Amino acid sequence: MIIHLKHNIAATEAELWAAQSKSILLKKEDTHILITPSAVKEVPDYLKDATAESFYMENDMQLASRKYLKETRTIKYGDVSIGGTSKNTLMMTGPCSVESEEQITACAELCVELGVKVLRAGCYKPRTSPYSFQGLGLDGLKLLARMREKYGLQIITEVRDSTHVDDVIEYADWIQIGAKSMYDHGILRKCGAARKPVLLKRGFGTTLQEFVQAAEFILSGGNDQVILCERGIRTFETKTRFTLDLCGVAYLKEYTNLPVVLDPSHAMGYAYGVADLARACTAMGTDGLLIESHPDPKSALSDASQQLNFEELRSLYKSLLPVANAVGYQMI
Ligand code: PEP
Ligand code: MN
Repeated sequence: MIIHLKHNIAATEAELWAAQSKSILLKKEDTHILITPSAVKEVPDYLKDATAESFYMENDMQLASRKYLKETRTIKYGDVSIGGTSKNTLMMTGPCSVESEEQITACAELCVELGVKVLRAGCYKPRTSPYSFQGLGLDGLKLLARMREKYGLQIITEVRDSTHVDDVIEYADWIQIGAKSMYDHGILRKCGAARKPVLLKRGFGTTLQEFVQAAEFILSGGNDQVILCERGIRTFETKTRFTLDLCGVAYLKEYTNLPVVLDPSHAMGYAYGVADLARACTAMGTDGLLIESHPDPKSALSDASQQLNFEELRSLYKSLLPVANAVGYQMI
């Protein structure tokens, strides 16, 4: 249950009640908010006089629930915004990994050419093998910061573990939490304390309930800028890398107040399917797309099979504009 206390309630009282009701306490403008465990079905007697508004939830999908906020949350960073009433579909593209200054510069220049505002690339890669390229780490973050300065792009990059979460929060404009890291509570809590948008990817074996509950860790930490990202789940199928769960996306759009971004690149795992999937995702009305692109995909140091070359990205981007418009959105 979410309980908004009346405006005149002092912080000391709110803290006491939070401890008594085993709730998380948040402050939004001048309102103290208690988030109780979902087992609490009604406002406790000792809180009745102090309560301005309360929202009952059947499970621990609380701050993310449409029962709490009917409108999709607006996520805004600089001059880029999604969600709310914007109907923007935000293109985020770039290589799987930052590999060199030359490579990331080429990607940044393609963003500028297309009018794409957010460059995406990883510096800390959660590889399935310790013998594969692990990312450039802090040197990669510095290269991304250079791209922001030089080209005015916003940067989204991934945090893999808690050893470098502070660096990613400092350097990135948008923070990506990867599918393999979405259960890391060190990361979730640090991102909850951050004041930058967080794109949380769904683990490939994660139920929708678990996914939204991971988002609740960030929201209940006080960061209300959370975006969900569907990137494919594991099914019995092995011909494609994962299965893009668009049914799950429909569920998230219906029941949560969080913007949803789709990542066809990691779902498919092969470049040949990415454009069709991206158009399908756009046609269902999405707040954003994450598409991997690389100046020379076959030489890429990670996810070589799925990255689009620049010609493929140009032609995909052009084809997405009317698709977005047809469902009342615009590509940004
Ligand atoms: C990535 O975005 O490059 C990545 C590693 O994705 P995921 O966390 O979805 O596997
Ligand atoms: Mn990748």
